[in-house]
Amino acid sequence: MKRAAEVVIVGAGIAGISSAFELAVRKGLRDIVLVEAGDPLSLTSDKSTECYRNWWPGPDDAMLRLMNRSIDLLETVERESGGRTRLNRRGYLYATADPDRIDTLLANGRRAKAQGAGPLRVHEKGSSGSDWIPSPAQGFAGVPEGADLVLDPDLIRTRFPWLTPDIVACLHARRCGWLSAQQLGMYLLEEARRHGVEVIRGMVRQVDLSGGRVRSVRIASAGGEDIRIDSERLILSTGPHLAASARDLLGIELPVVCERHLKVAFRDHRSAIPGDAPLMVWTDPVTLPWTKEERAELEASPENGWLLDPFPAGVHGRPEGRPGEHWLLILWTFDAQPVPPIFPLPVCDSLPEIALRGWSKMIPALCEYFERLPKTIVDGGYYVRTPENRPLIGPLPVAGAWVNAAWSGFGIMGGCAGGELAANWITGDPMPPWAKAFHPARFDDPAYRQRFAHGDDDGQL
Ligand SMILES: Cc1cc2nc3c(=O)[nH]c(=O)nc-3n(C[C@H](O)[C@H](O)[C@H](O)COP(=O)(O)OP(=O)(O)OC[C@H]3O[C@@H](n4cnc5c(N)ncnc54)[C@H](O)[C@@H]3O)c2cc1C
Repeated sequence: MKRAAEVVIVGAGIAGISSAFELAVRKGLRDIVLVEAGDPLSLTSDKSTECYRNWWPGPDDAMLRLMNRSIDLLETVERESGGRTRLNRRGYLYATADPDRIDTLLANGRRAKAQGAGPLRVHEKGSSGSDWIPSPAQGFAGVPEGADLVLDPDLIRTRFPWLTPDIVACLHARRCGWLSAQQLGMYLLEEARRHGVEVIRGMVRQVDLSGGRVRSVRIASAGGEDIRIDSERLILSTGPHLAASARDLLGIELPVVCERHLKVAFRDHRSAIPGDAPLMVWTDPVTLPWTKEERAELEASPENGWLLDPFPAGVHGRPEGRPGEHWLLILWTFDAQPVPPIFPLPVCDSLPEIALRGWSKMIPALCEYFERLPKTIVDGGYYVRTPENRPLIGPLPVAGAWVNAAWSGFGIMGGCAGGELAANWITGDPMPPWAKAFHPARFDDPAYRQRFAHGDDDGQL
């Protein structure tokens, strides 16, 4: 079979679908083909925690601007779809029990404010906190932006009584929350299809690059056909297969690695956390709590002795579902390292217990689950990361090829703005100044590589 298309997009995860939506729905392009080897959204994009935040470290404001734009677009989708994505703005609560970390929270708040996250409200000890009101469980209209830095432990416990009394300070970042990523993706896909995007189920196996540019794409379709699509424009959005597809289809090496990230889910039948709580991040390193007997057993175990070692900061989670019947989701990637993207995804059997014990430092009622662990579901996928943990959006060194990928742990929240940028690259529409921060050629500049060489906080949760 042979035919032609204006643009071929490879991969129907959130990145490919957002590009298709922007090109067809917002820009009115016709003849767009979206090729997907499996089911749309099913490889990584339905495995996320579905959260968003306009809370990103520097060294410049590019990530924050990208996310602010993307959240604007997410809110537009929520309105246009009649509330289908159920976007809330409950915030992210970063908490510490270490007085020495208060200055870091304050510095983060000031930096975020300077970069455009919104105002920083500091609530000192003894403050009434009348202007620090937790967000409603649903919706986002009228919920403040910016952040509240709360330095009064009593006030924190008044608002969130399930948190440990050890907390000395918390930073409540407000333009943050979660949504149904599946509904978001399906809405964008349905709209894209309604505006003429054709989805072909199959694997892109080859790209014809004769004359030094993209000419056509060869697909091994799920139905067993060999399909050739003549097109001079192609967007690569192949998720964890990005490095392999850039190499095999275009002969390009991209600076990306895959990291495995897992999440634990279980029904909170003991109501350790209310169902309307925000996302909560423990910013201190953790030594897991064990009884004296468990500790002695672990000390004697060559395989499991590592469970007594300190774990890094960052265990976090949130409730999911209707209050009262809600589940808890917990994430804690304490062993992130580059790995080949293997499917089915290998999971770690001890993760549920480690995550539960780790997060109990922040939420003591979780200890009630220690004796009899709840039935858990563990799933996840691969974060596709560049060296500084920013996506790749823009032209590749082969004429007619663009990329919208390397979305690491933020493709749901950033996907809409990424799709818009990718579409602007294709149509030649004006770009915002921060778009250059995501240009794939940025690593060609040694000064740029140097700027990110120190391994500073890259915003990964
Ligand atoms: C545990 C976990 C938690 C996360 N939490 C969050 C969160 O809270 N918020 C957030 O914003 N993000 C989160 N993320 C990240 C987010 O899920 C990803 O960034 C996003 O889903 C990546 O989307 P994608 O479209 O780039 O890739 P994918 O969803 O993997 O899609 C790529 C698609 O390309 C297809 N494909 C590949 N090669 C070919 C080919 N040759 N031909 C045809 N099709 C091909 C694949 O089949 C796949 O469907 C999380 C991720 C994980 C793993």
